[in-house]
Amino acid sequence: MLTHGHEDHIGATPYLLRERGDIPLVGSELTLALLGSKLREHRLKETVHHVVAEGETITFGPFVLEFIAVNHSIPDALAVVIRTGAGVVLHTGDFKMDQLPLDGRITDLNEFARLGDEGVDLFMTDSTNAEVPGFTTSEKDIAPVPERVFHKSAQRIIVACFASHIHRVQQVIDAAVANNRKVAYVGRSMVRNMSIAKELGYLHVPAGVLVDAKELADLPVDRQVLISTGSQGEPLSALSRIAQRTHSFVHLEEGDTVVLASSLIPGNENAVYRVINGLARWGANVVHKGNAPVHVSGHASAGELLYCYNIVKPRNVMPIHGEIRHMRANAELARATGVENVVMAEDGVVVDLVDGVASIAGKVECGYVFVDGSSIGDISESSMKDRRILSEEGFISVIVVIDSVTGKVSGPEIHARGFAEDDSAFDAIKPQIVDALTKAAAEGTDSYQMQQLVRRVVGRWVNKTHRRRPMIIPVVIEA
Ligand SMILES: [Zn+2]
Ligand SMILES: [Zn+2]
Repeated sequence: MLTHGHEDHIGATPYLLRERGDIPLVGSELTLALLGSKLREHRLKETVHHVVAEGETITFGPFVLEFIAVNHSIPDALAVVIRTGAGVVLHTGDFKMDQLPLDGRITDLNEFARLGDEGVDLFMTDSTNAEVPGFTTSEKDIAPVPERVFHKSAQRIIVACFASHIHRVQQVIDAAVANNRKVAYVGRSMVRNMSIAKELGYLHVPAGVLVDAKELADLPVDRQVLISTGSQGEPLSALSRIAQRTHSFVHLEEGDTVVLASSLIPGNENAVYRVINGLARWGANVVHKGNAPVHVSGHASAGELLYCYNIVKPRNVMPIHGEIRHMRANAELARATGVENVVMAEDGVVVDLVDGVASIAGKVECGYVFVDGSSIGDISESSMKDRRILSEEGFISVIVVIDSVTGKVSGPEIHARGFAEDDSAFDAIKPQIVDALTKAAAEGTDSYQMQQLVRRVVGRWVNKTHRRRPMIIPVVIEA
């Protein structure tokens, strides 16, 4: 069951289906359509899928699933009720409670209340914004920003947002239409997703507004709007290439306006600011979360979660979706409304619901599976760490030859990459390596220990004199 079409919920599905192609997929029309185009890219065509909508039920063995409309930063999101012999589970998926959403589809609190009266044994709730007090701002409240931007700008406007944020794209299209501008999409996922959304009726574009990006360039600059991917500073995205002036046909001009209409996902700060600086260097006016309210979150804040707990009145709560600090904050909210049993379970923890009581029953092995080029799961966390060291600290190789009869040390030959321009930087450490190895050879140390010794001597010196911790590869050859 896929609650909605965001990448963190559907992105791994092609890899799962490669292992087990017969797993049935359950989700709303838009969710499965977005997933379907992804599966086709992976050349996975034959899938078992069930398109469902709010109000519908579907049975899988001992589980009866029932779906409820929820509001989120992508249309057609669903919460799911799982009826089992052990009790009733309500899983919110990602959700918020915007009371004036752009598409008018609100989180169905009537249904939450009805289930609450019937009795919910386990309530699994989105923790993402549990630390944020109050209520998440309505999508409607940020509409003045695109309107103002369009009103003020006399040149080209580029808006970058998530390729799944159909409502944000709708806001930009509406503003473009109102200001007699034409719109083009740039970025593969933007083009793909918006054509799906338009075809299914989730995006409304008046005829003649949408043009090909290359055609757009022929129009006067005050009639151009580009909607692009890359709001998180992804290095290969359309926006990054525009900022670096390496995009094949979008060439930024002084006075153009660029809006980054999305949140800043933690960890992406450097990449995003690099793009903003790149755009500013060409003279663009950059509007982003740091200087204007251009984005609202897709997740319920603490106030909304409190309402949910009071409406659903669950017997047990299990916070989901978020880091441990978000889940703990969410657990506190549940307890504050009188929920006695809150189960804290991180990835891999097994929770059992027996006779209306949820408890931790075990743990299964789990972790990240890295997709590296065309290989899946072959690369480990330790090789990711090696790559990080290589990229940030560089690499030093030390080759020494030891005469196994006389114990005489030849070399060392030292080469570095990404560390020092000139290998002569290592001249100072060479005598110390020779001394240490000569002594070790006299004591009959084996070659593995000698390698460790070289690594230690070089590592200590590099750290002391250069304050760096590069990867050191010692090679000790006994000849
Ligand atoms: Zn989501
Ligand atoms: Zn999510």
